[in-house]
Amino acid sequence: MRVLITGGAGFLGSHLCDRFLAEGHTVIAMDNLITGSTDNIAHLAGNPNFKFIQHDVTEYIYVEGDLDAILHFASPASPIDYLELPIQTMKVGALGTHKALGLAKAKGARFLLASTSEAYGDPLVHPQTEDYWGNVNPIGPRGVYDEAKRFAEALTMAYHRYHGVDTRIVRIFNTYGPRMRLGDGRVVPNFIAQALTGKPLTVYGDGSQTRSFCYVSDLVEGIYRLWHSDEVYPVNIGNPVEMTILQFAQKVVEVTESSSEIIMVQPKDERTKDDPKVRKPDISKARRVLGWEPKVSLDEGLRKTIPDFARRLNIG
Ligand code: UDP
Repeated sequence: MRVLITGGAGFLGSHLCDRFLAEGHTVIAMDNLITGSTDNIAHLAGNPNFKFIQHDVTEYIYVEGDLDAILHFASPASPIDYLELPIQTMKVGALGTHKALGLAKAKGARFLLASTSEAYGDPLVHPQTEDYWGNVNPIGPRGVYDEAKRFAEALTMAYHRYHGVDTRIVRIFNTYGPRMRLGDGRVVPNFIAQALTGKPLTVYGDGSQTRSFCYVSDLVEGIYRLWHSDEVYPVNIGNPVEMTILQFAQKVVEVTESSSEIIMVQPKDERTKDDPKVRKPDISKARRVLGWEPKVSLDEGLRKTIPDFARRLNIG
């Protein structure tokens, strides 16, 4: 297959490039490098089956030749990014999805949308099942991401129903692993970098809010299976092991053997406004439809992630 991955120089996009190449496919990665980095795909330079195109997918996308698959992963993905890049976040979720779907229609390619647990907002149903419609504040700082992704899901279903485009939608829950951007402001890079440099781990609020963290190889396997399945409606992919952010901070200190303290802070900007109080995927559907469930424990995943952060922080 010939595969286009938008956001291909990002954290998830670059791991998907690796997977599709490993399965023997030809991969074109497209990225405007606002939050992605060519460092993430540097190891693929010179691979005859790989090509990188720097392009902003909110503009008309031109790709020469046939395409069998489009995986639309371009988007800022951190609450700090939403504060700093609110319009780009909306544009890539809305206009970028429109361009990528138009390309899928023109090429007869299967289209897979990277959607998000943020589609559920600050959820009133717990754990989150795919049939829950969500609790999103459209005018809050996170609304730019949540609403763009909800629009993207609606547009994907419209292209499926009206144009017969072959589509898939994955709702991705918190994922971590090597290549997450240092300083992207999310909890995993923050805590690991803080623990490795002996700085205090900054728990926002009282740390009682919960998340469930999925290691990137598990996520990629789930997406690869969804890609090959017949399931058109959204599927949650994430790790259902839920913990509080305070517990997560303690886990990072333990695994890094850090002497850092854990402090509770209240950021002055709006990054924690509408911060979901709980989040945990119900993965019954992924188990049933894809025969998928995560395999990598948090301890193991952190141990695989920490050396990559240490290298980039020039530690050790
Ligand atoms: N968080 C924190 N300290 C940090 C960064 C994040 O306590 O230095 C919290 C944040 O308030 C949220 C959770 O960790 O409750 C996960 O935040 P993240 O930015 O990783 O992504 P989200 O799951 O909110 O999209």
